[in-house]
Amino acid sequence: MAVKQIVMFPDEVLERPCDKVTVFDKKLTKLLGDMYDTMIENDGVGLAAPQIGISQQIAIVDIDDHHGTIELINPEIIEQRGKQTGPEGCLSFPGLFGEVSRADYVKVSTYNRKGKVKVIEAEGFLARAIQHEMDHLEGILFTSKVEKYLEEEDLESAEG
Ligand SMILES: [Zn+2]
Repeated sequence: MAVKQIVMFPDEVLERPCDKVTVFDKKLTKLLGDMYDTMIENDGVGLAAPQIGISQQIAIVDIDDHHGTIELINPEIIEQRGKQTGPEGCLSFPGLFGEVSRADYVKVSTYNRKGKVKVIEAEGFLARAIQHEMDHLEGILFTSKVEKYLEEEDLESAEG
């Protein structure tokens, strides 16, 4: 596995809708491993494939809780409710943070690395991270949803 270079805004791959994954093979497993290493190396809570230059519907989320690493492949939101507003950042926009509103709860249908359908339920911060990564797969960046940009000192309480 390897740490990959993060693609920074404004690279056009970040704003292009990704292609669906159709082949679930060793290459996909290796890519997921590389994405995990890259996310951890950069202290991220999630990473989408376009952020390492690959325009495919693959993302991972790991907020360091009991869910472990969630793999999202061709994911679709099948249910959502509630609303949360909170600070968000993105590895492709270093040092930029803003308040974004998201659904508070999501139910997502996704594939795992073996091509099996899985349903994931999440709320709060995990739901936020999943929605942020899923947006990447459609070429949507968090900056298009920021209601208010935040200074780093505003974030201290939010980041604990
Ligand atoms: Zn991002």
